[in-house]
Amino acid sequence: MKKEKKFTEKGISSEVLTRMLPDHKTDDAKWAQGKTFGFVFHPGDRFAEVPEQYRAAFQYESTLNPTAFPSLKKFEKEVVGMAAELMHGDQHVSGSVTTGGTESIFMALSVARERARELSGGQVRAEVVLPGTAHPAFLKACHYLSLKPVVVPVREDGRADPAAMEKEITPQTILLVASAPCFPYGVVDPVKELGNIALKHKLLLHVDACMGGFMLPFLEDLGYPVPEFDFRVPGVTSISLDAHKYGYAPKGTSIVLYRRKELRKLQFFICTEWPGGIFASTTFMGTKSGGPLAGCWAIMNHLGREGYRAIADEVMRTAIRIRTGINAFESLEVIGDPHMSLLAFTSKKGNIFNIGDAMQRRGWYLDRLQFPDALHLTITQLNVGMEGKFLQDLASVLDNEEELMKEYKATRNSVQIADILTRFLPSAMVDRLTRMAGGILGGSKGGTRIPEAALYGINASFKNRRNIHKLITNLLDGMY
Ligand SMILES: *Cc1c(COP(=O)(O)O)cnc(C)c1O
Repeated sequence: MKKEKKFTEKGISSEVLTRMLPDHKTDDAKWAQGKTFGFVFHPGDRFAEVPEQYRAAFQYESTLNPTAFPSLKKFEKEVVGMAAELMHGDQHVSGSVTTGGTESIFMALSVARERARELSGGQVRAEVVLPGTAHPAFLKACHYLSLKPVVVPVREDGRADPAAMEKEITPQTILLVASAPCFPYGVVDPVKELGNIALKHKLLLHVDACMGGFMLPFLEDLGYPVPEFDFRVPGVTSISLDAHKYGYAPKGTSIVLYRRKELRKLQFFICTEWPGGIFASTTFMGTKSGGPLAGCWAIMNHLGREGYRAIADEVMRTAIRIRTGINAFESLEVIGDPHMSLLAFTSKKGNIFNIGDAMQRRGWYLDRLQFPDALHLTITQLNVGMEGKFLQDLASVLDNEEELMKEYKATRNSVQIADILTRFLPSAMVDRLTRMAGGILGGSKGGTRIPEAALYGINASFKNRRNIHKLITNLLDGMY
């Protein structure tokens, strides 16, 4: 075992730590250069200072006790109020600020379960019907809450299939899910149809606008065609929107909204019998910094609708240029008809992941999708003005047939070897081999990095899904 660095006995001076600071970032993605997609959502230098000031000023305050820090209670009420207005909610809409989309979704599912409990006199009905493109946060919440996810394949155009989802409704169903838009293809699900189905079957309908919440309303203002997805659609009972994505708030901020106050009440957890006193919390988290919330309040007030609209305009123009550029390559194709600034594209010849690897060598970080294999872009303000360089590099990658084919072989070989290993070796041995691979990946210095193409290639073509699960568990274990 490699020896880990131990806790220092004598503290390191502030001078030394300050000097060390930039070094920590040496190997990190250079997002400020505009060649990463997603991860970082930045409003631009001229707007970034104020939220940072507010975040730092409330860093040590805790949101847990609203009576100790009325400032934070006010920030939360106002952020929720602004978000409710953005989603066209009426005066009955209420909500909470959470730490992210995952927590917002967790709360919405927990509320659905509590409501089902009430309606069925304590007995839990427990199925959630969701499109295959819904974010894994739903499956994660189902996992922790012991709910059964019923995953329904999407249509050819990447949007949810309302008729197929309706067919899956049983007496155990508690909630339907739609995305606005879904992460993989950037398309908004047919929320209106799903709303009608929810009303007909007296079910709740959650709309996941984690990506779209702070973009789609402004794109609508700008005249882009945006399918209805918010509280204007009858049947929508809750919405999640991430302030820490296109809301440009500090990481650790999302909002969950409910059409009626009674729903939000089901979200609270109260313990009256603890020796430590009466404990009450509105969301999942306990102690958390007031910093992100304060920063969120500041950026929303700083940008205003006008500021968000202007950024949305730039981002969407960039996204359209990239999309048009990709479609202009004969061998590439954008999936579906994205409503927003997220898109995925496939290759009609060769392995798309080789293109991803080749782009990575030119400094571009793209996400990899599966079923079908595709590359994915979340275009943000940081990418504005970079579209020309991106398309130019993509063209040079596509021109370099030799480079692509060479790598394709390498990828295919490693995929085949890994596949054979996991199919024919006893699982204990696979466990050991993958743990070794995890160790190699974990040590970023010196160790060989398994190319992304091989890793994701393994993912998509593995027959034995159980072993992928094990492989990834060991990779994670090796990394931390
Ligand atoms: C990011 C995202 C989530 C999860 O949010 P986190 O903030 O990462 O917890 C959920 N749904 C969609 C569509 C997302 O893009």
